Amino acid sequence: MTVVIRHGVIAEVGKHPRMPRDIETISCQGCVALAGFWNAHVHFMEPKWNEAANQPVDKLDRQMSEMLNRSGFTTVVDTGSDGENTVALRRRVQSGEVLGPRIITAGIPLFPAHALPYYLDVLPADVKAKMAQPETAADAIIDVDNNRAAGYDIVKLFTGSIVSPDHITPMKVSIARAAVEEAHKHEQLVFAHSSNLEGTKVAIDAGVDVLAHTPEVTSGIDETMLRRMIAQHMTIIPTLKLFSRDDNIANIRGLAFRYHQLGGRLVYGTDTGFLQDYDQSEEFRQLVQAGLGFRDVLAMLTTAPAELFHLSQREGKVMPGMRGDLTILSEDPASGRPEAFTTVRYTIRGGKVIWRSN
Ligand SMILES: [Zn+2]
Repeated sequence: MTVVIRHGVIAEVGKHPRMPRDIETISCQGCVALAGFWNAHVHFMEPKWNEAANQPVDKLDRQMSEMLNRSGFTTVVDTGSDGENTVALRRRVQSGEVLGPRIITAGIPLFPAHALPYYLDVLPADVKAKMAQPETAADAIIDVDNNRAAGYDIVKLFTGSIVSPDHITPMKVSIARAAVEEAHKHEQLVFAHSSNLEGTKVAIDAGVDVLAHTPEVTSGIDETMLRRMIAQHMTIIPTLKLFSRDDNIANIRGLAFRYHQLGGRLVYGTDTGFLQDYDQSEEFRQLVQAGLGFRDVLAMLTTAPAELFHLSQREGKVMPGMRGDLTILSEDPASGRPEAFTTVRYTIRGGKVIWRSN
C-alpha cells in the first residue's frame, strides 16, 4: 500500500494512488504504517528543558528525539510541568523550528492545600512556589482560569497527593468539583492523579475525565466503583512501567485490565520525563501481561486518545482526510511480540519526517 500525504493531511491510501509530481517519497518495503502514536502522560520537567525559548535548536532536537520522536510519538500530553517553559517549547515545535510531537499541556497542576507530593521535593524552590494549592472553591476557579490564560490546554488535579511514602492526602471534593466545572465550562479535560481509594472517590465525585495513573493503592476499589467510572465516561492511563517494581503490580495490572474488560477506555501513557529511562518496552510488556491484545494496545495509542480529545473525525486512523501523522514500524505488532511497538522506522507528523532510524 502507498499512503499519500498532502498539505499535512492523508490524501490517498491504496495500491496505485495518483502520485503528485515533486513529492518526497519514502520507500519502506515490509513496513507497517500505523496512525501516529500518542503518549498521554509525559512531563517536560527535567532541568534540560529549562530556558526552552533560548536553547539551541540542535540540543532541543536531540532531547526531543531521545525522549519522544524515536518512540513514534506524534502527540504527547504533558500532565504537569513549568507550564510557561513548556508553552515556549511548544511554540518552537509548532513553528517547525524544533522537530517534535504536538504538545498538549496541563501546565501547573493543582494540589491539595499544604500537601505537595514528597517526590517533588527535588524541584527548585521557585518552581514549587508556582504550584497551585487552592484552599477554597473560589481559589480553584481562579487557578484554572489563570492556567487557561497562560495557554494551558487541560487541567491536572492531585486528588490524592502522596505527601510521604506511606501517607496520601486527598483534595477536598468541593475544591476539585469547582476546578472541574470551571474547566468543563471552557471545554478543557481534567486529568487526576488519584493514588488510592479516597483520591479516586474524590475524582469520581468531582467529575474528573481521566485518571492519569491506575490507582497504585488498589485496595477498596471494587467493581461497583469501576462501573461508576465507566458510566461517567472516565478514562484510565495505566502507566504500568512506573509501578513495575511495586509489590502490588499484579493488582494494579489486574485493575487496569478489569476496567478494559468492563468496557472502560484505556489510553496509552507512561510518565516519560518523570521516568528518566525513556524506553517504552516495559510498558508494552506490562500491557500484554495484563491481558491486552495488540489491537487493544494499538487503540490505546491511536483511536482511544483521539476519541478522548474529540478528534476522531480528523485523526487516529490511516485513511483519507485524517492528519498526516504516521508511526511506521519495521515489525508487525500482530506478531504478538509486545516490543514490536518499539521498532520505529519513521515518525511522521503532518507529513514531515520528525525521526528516522538509521
Ligand atoms: Zn506524571
